[in-house]
Amino acid sequence: MRYDRKFTSENKNNNNDNKTMAQQQTVFSAVQPSGELHIGNYLGALKNFVELQDKYNCFFFIADYHSITENYDPKEKPRQIFDLALDFLAIGLDPKKCTIAIQSQIPEHTELAWIFNTVTPLTELQRMTQFKDKSQQQDKNINMGLLDYPVLQAADILMYKADAVPVGQDQIQHIELTRKIARFFNNKFCNTFPEPKNIITETSKIMSLTNPTKKMSKSHGPKSYIGINDKPEIIQKKMRKAVSTTEYNKDIYNFYATLLKKFGSEKNKRCFNEKLKNQDIKFSELKNALAEDIANYFKDFREKRKELKKNPEKIKRILNEGSKGARFVAQETMKEVKEKVGLVL
Ligand code: ADP
Repeated sequence: MRYDRKFTSENKNNNNDNKTMAQQQTVFSAVQPSGELHIGNYLGALKNFVELQDKYNCFFFIADYHSITENYDPKEKPRQIFDLALDFLAIGLDPKKCTIAIQSQIPEHTELAWIFNTVTPLTELQRMTQFKDKSQQQDKNINMGLLDYPVLQAADILMYKADAVPVGQDQIQHIELTRKIARFFNNKFCNTFPEPKNIITETSKIMSLTNPTKKMSKSHGPKSYIGINDKPEIIQKKMRKAVSTTEYNKDIYNFYATLLKKFGSEKNKRCFNEKLKNQDIKFSELKNALAEDIANYFKDFREKRKELKKNPEKIKRILNEGSKGARFVAQETMKEVKEKVGLVL
């Protein structure tokens, strides 16, 4: 199920001409619209998305159905969806090269999730680490969607028969389950879905500013992360407060070494790498330098985002076109699935 098979968008065809046959593999990934994107999301996922769109048929989704499994304010959701689309575009995703779509605009995703529910053992879902973590975080709202989250995720990925899924390390367990679900379905009915691989970046887990033993996450609050759209003065402020006691020695070292490697200017890398290794460092100086480098790194992004924000109609058009194109593929998959499952008279 690839766009190049039948999809007729002008842009898509033009661009696919530039991608060789060997590169006609499909990549799928999604991000929840549940708050600002942080540098962990960037290094674990988005940076990879931008690189992959030149080589593969890529689908990048705004996973709004997933995001409503968490506590949220319905009045805020449309803005969060719009903001995530802005982030995708400003970071460099190009609708001429990839498909950007909204999950809830393609009802086939929830249809396929239902069918997958019937081949997924309950015990597989109950042992998911994310389910356990989120059940603790929102112990008054352990809803069915939270448990079923990985099945919908499998439906998202397998709908496009994706060969690969770029995600951060925290999602590996879910992608393994996606492979199992593909296998359960293929064994019970007939060979339909490929088993997708993970594409994990070298730095696939960025730790929290306030606790370097925990992953940086939107759900741990803004003090624990650096947003990719944070203003330079906010980045300075957050970095100043970032943990730098010797209590977490090895974790602290890894945390700062990673930030330096990924965002540091050549000058700062030269200046601080050795000192950090030798534990001969003034953290206030390092944090100051890093804050400046991170702010510079995302300067173009912030400017581009500001420009894009001025034209909301254009953003909505991109999302509608992307979702329409994706739905075309999704309908084909569902037709095939329903026949195999025995739902076609
Ligand atoms: P969050 O935990 O902040 O809500 P999401 O669940 O929306 O993040 O994840 C979006 C993408 O970003 C996923 O591919 C996920 O693996 C990746 N990601 C999230 N947090 C991190 C992190 N701290 N380090 C690396 N990648 C991350």
